[in-house]
Amino acid sequence: MSIFDEIRFVSNNETFYKMFIDGNWVESSNKQTFEVRNPHDNSLVGKVQKATQEDAEKAVQAAFNSKGKIASMSALDRGNLLLKIAELLEQNKDEIIKILIDESGKIGKDANGEIDASITRLRYAAEEAKQLGGELIKGDYAPHGKGQIGMVVRQPLGVILAVTPFNYPIFTAIAKIAPAIAGGNSLVVKPASDDPICLLLVTIVMQEAGIPPGVINVITGSGSEIGDYLASHEKIDMISFTGSTFVGRHMASVAGMKRLQLELGGKGAGIVLGDADLNLAVKECAKGALKFSGQRCDAISRVLIVNPVADNFVNMMVEEVKNWKLGDPKDPNTVIGPLINERAAQKVEELVNDAINKGAKILLGGKRNGLYFEPTVLDFVNKEMRIAWEETFGPVVTVIRVNDYEEAIRIANESNYGLDSCIFTNDIDKALDASQRIECGSVHINSHPTHGVGAFPFGGDKDSGLGREGIKYSIEEMTKTHTIVYHPREG
Ligand code: NAP
Ligand code: MG
Repeated sequence: MSIFDEIRFVSNNETFYKMFIDGNWVESSNKQTFEVRNPHDNSLVGKVQKATQEDAEKAVQAAFNSKGKIASMSALDRGNLLLKIAELLEQNKDEIIKILIDESGKIGKDANGEIDASITRLRYAAEEAKQLGGELIKGDYAPHGKGQIGMVVRQPLGVILAVTPFNYPIFTAIAKIAPAIAGGNSLVVKPASDDPICLLLVTIVMQEAGIPPGVINVITGSGSEIGDYLASHEKIDMISFTGSTFVGRHMASVAGMKRLQLELGGKGAGIVLGDADLNLAVKECAKGALKFSGQRCDAISRVLIVNPVADNFVNMMVEEVKNWKLGDPKDPNTVIGPLINERAAQKVEELVNDAINKGAKILLGGKRNGLYFEPTVLDFVNKEMRIAWEETFGPVVTVIRVNDYEEAIRIANESNYGLDSCIFTNDIDKALDASQRIECGSVHINSHPTHGVGAFPFGGDKDSGLGREGIKYSIEEMTKTHTIVYHPREG
């Protein structure tokens, strides 16, 4: 008997998963489901509920009616709830990791890393819940305010709609759920349809931990069918969305007057200067471009390398990428697994072929077999090629050779995206100069960009989004300042 048995049933040898509305595990109102398939071999992982508008409405109402339950808990109790979720997640993680590998194609090490980072994030958010303070402001800056005292306190926003992408189905959801709860909000969560099951497993863990019914509702279903209904719902106070720029922009257009946190696409640049430690730069740029088959918003999606060291760099890169073994995510020797779906694989192929047709050189890889795309090194990419500007989301090291540092900065900033970037150099002045001039949310020095567990704020500028995520920063975004002013009586 496992705690997960309550949320699934087997019929005709197929496993069906329910969704979670108002504290109950339910089927969709019209009993429709959709398939979740393993990108490795296309086998069926399970069938999940295809939420209807009616289901979406029930989820929003439940979250709305439960606002008071979570807002009235003490910060200490909200923190303890998060700690309990972390503890139970740790105890039940093996089965969750198994499903995560099956439905996302992630290798074991990355799946483990994702769940561990989620557990850590829950624990940090529990600490941060207790720090929600406020401030006292004296009104006597102006004569008419003499004697007044402003008390500024933080209050929950109310109901948060969290919509998450396929690439970190647990971490991106926890990155929204933990701060929302820490800040005293209720939620409706809609995971990506490619791999929603692992979050359902995490949800029953949250229920076991004692989340009051209705405070967290997790509905599965098609974003394009129920997304607008949710995003435009007047009882939703804030949308926290992680996903593509295309969908994020659309949600913003239907949202109306809501707070928005949009974590969107990226085209991160890795700038490598002539004085860089090339061994380090090669290893980090390979990780940045290839980890989880490049399906990361924070991927190094183009390497801008200065000419004098470019030949050396690409030769070393080819040797490095030969170690990135493509294969079954369950095989412990595999470093890269399949891409998430056919559309994603076609897009990578299209971008690589477009570059080759316009004169780029394939030094390694370049082919695909079904959803498996070979780890690829693409040299002599130039600004005429789509891959110089469009998000790749595939295992491609894209090399753009530049004359000098200034050209590298210029090309980095010509992108519409502005999520994160990195620079490899031993010159601290150049590193800090670049860090301030690259137009994006964060710049990493001598490392590929990573989210970390959320101590640092993370988020994008330009087409990469609005607002910042991070434990403390998300709690701030998910709460509002409320002002109380004491006026002394006259006389
Ligand atoms: P996506 O296609 O944009 O989908 C993201 C989520 O939006 C899914 O849950 C999807 O549901 C839903 N959705 C689709 N259409 C919708 C609509 N009209 N209204 C409301 N929701 C809708 O993104 P993805 O392919 O899953 O993930 C990859 C993208 O996410 C990349 O662009 C990547 O850069 C970005 N990302 C950004 C960050 C960051 O922190 N900045 C982190 C990770 C990923 P369905 O699955 O049902 O369509
Ligand atoms: Mg998608």
